[in-house]
Amino acid sequence: MKATRKERKSVFDESMEAFYRAAELIRLTPRVRLELEEPDFEHIFYITIETRDRLVPLSPEEEAQFRDLPPSSVKAGEALEPLANGQFVLHRRALLKADVTLREGVLRIPKRGLFRIEKGGPKKFKAYRIQYNQVRGPYKGGVRYHKDVSLDLFKALAAEMTWKTAIADIPFGGAKGGVRIDPQSYSKEELEHVTLRFIYKLKNLIGPYVDIPAPDVNTNPEIMAIMMRQYTDAARTPHAMRGVVTGKDVRIGGSEGRTMATGQGTVYCLEDWARWRGVSLKGARVLIQGFGNVGSATAEILHGMGARILAVQDAYGTVHDEKGIDVPALLEHCYANPQNLRKSVHGFSGAKPLPADDFWFLDADIAVPAALGGEITGEVADRMKVKVVAEAANGPTTPEGDEVLRARGIDLIPDIICNAGGVTVSYYEWLQNLRMEHWTEAEVNQRLERAIKSNYAIIRDIALDTPQRTDLHDSRTFAIGRQTDMRTAAMVLALKRIEAHYLLEGFSQ
Ligand code: NAD
Repeated sequence: MKATRKERKSVFDESMEAFYRAAELIRLTPRVRLELEEPDFEHIFYITIETRDRLVPLSPEEEAQFRDLPPSSVKAGEALEPLANGQFVLHRRALLKADVTLREGVLRIPKRGLFRIEKGGPKKFKAYRIQYNQVRGPYKGGVRYHKDVSLDLFKALAAEMTWKTAIADIPFGGAKGGVRIDPQSYSKEELEHVTLRFIYKLKNLIGPYVDIPAPDVNTNPEIMAIMMRQYTDAARTPHAMRGVVTGKDVRIGGSEGRTMATGQGTVYCLEDWARWRGVSLKGARVLIQGFGNVGSATAEILHGMGARILAVQDAYGTVHDEKGIDVPALLEHCYANPQNLRKSVHGFSGAKPLPADDFWFLDADIAVPAALGGEITGEVADRMKVKVVAEAANGPTTPEGDEVLRARGIDLIPDIICNAGGVTVSYYEWLQNLRMEHWTEAEVNQRLERAIKSNYAIIRDIALDTPQRTDLHDSRTFAIGRQTDMRTAAMVLALKRIEAHYLLEGFSQ
């Protein structure tokens, strides 16, 4: 029977299952549990911008009545700005010196077709910033521009950041936010205005020691630069506030190594897993789903270490080579070829195409989901032929998938540590900004390696109940006297680190 709307769990409730499991296991102090069950603050607000006029393509039915409309001599170039949704932003200068024939607001542009002019004007968007918990340090989390965002989703993502920063042992709390907008329907200039208004409204609620946004879906270093400018605008010491956002371009205070950091963190986890299992990554056979920022970095680094990347899958295709894919050639195919607009592995001549459904079931050693959530279901897990799943993506394994992997003895490196490299290097960026320093990539990676490997080792010790102290890590205060799964163990580590602050600092009344 289908769950009714009321019975269906919210994204947030579902994401909190591991929290409750771990809280029970460690008998989390009841008041701390109450503090952590809901966000500190839920900021929901509205922003407005002025949009420009649009040229909207006519539907085939509408086109019939304008068949005889003569073409207008509108100069395209910069004056007509194409949008990813097929429309154009009409800048007034396009009409200067143009010879325009309009009928009922429709004009014909040579080689492009018939368009209706749609008047721009003020537009309103819903915006969010969820500040989940700050007991360990300033709130930290990305800003997402997407049409499907909601309070429920941002609460789940902000909670996740709280656990992730604790597991990475960086002095930050958790936050997340963004704007409900379809960025494909707006111009660069309009998105800049959205960003400026977003930060204008948040100005008193964020800051290098308060809440530090970062890029997430559909936001990038360019948007971070605009955020930084808006936050520091008219300040006497703007340079001292560069740490208000992370994920910036390296030329304006971003960190070396940030672009590769999440993939690099995944590889550090895999290195430590291989050492623990007594196997070598050299010659290891790897499947990678997703060839974007995280998947391509993971593939490039593993390939450089002598691993064999057997197959890579993205949204548009899957490529396969038993001998191992030439990753530099695949990177070139995806990222150095202007014809490859979707930056897809599809059509790569150096490997054979594979039916998408066969991907997860190839015989290999390592599977790296680095694309979407919910990919490794119970059914998929049941037929996988790998030794370890390294969750580079957020939430790629379903709860059933988790159970099946466990029952089949397939190791799991949970997302919360496997992809923590990104936020860890964001912390390094913040530190460099506050200290006015610029570290080399080698310095960044040296610190990252130690941070990821030691925290991963602690989680493994909690899961296996093997408390110990080595040169690299000390898990003695985190073990719980019984074994548990890796995902719960990761949450145990997060909660113990967070709880310590409440227990030692107490509560202000
Ligand atoms: P991206 O947008 O750069 O790349 C996503 C890749 O996934 C693309 O290659 C895309 O084609 C592929 N993909 C999309 N739909 C697919 C499908 N149905 N089947 C197969 N492949 C598909 O994104 P990214 O930054 O690399 O992030 C990937 C994952 O890692 C996400 O889950 C993200 O939340 C997580 N993550 C990213 C970072 C980071 O620093 N970028 C940090 C932590 C977690």
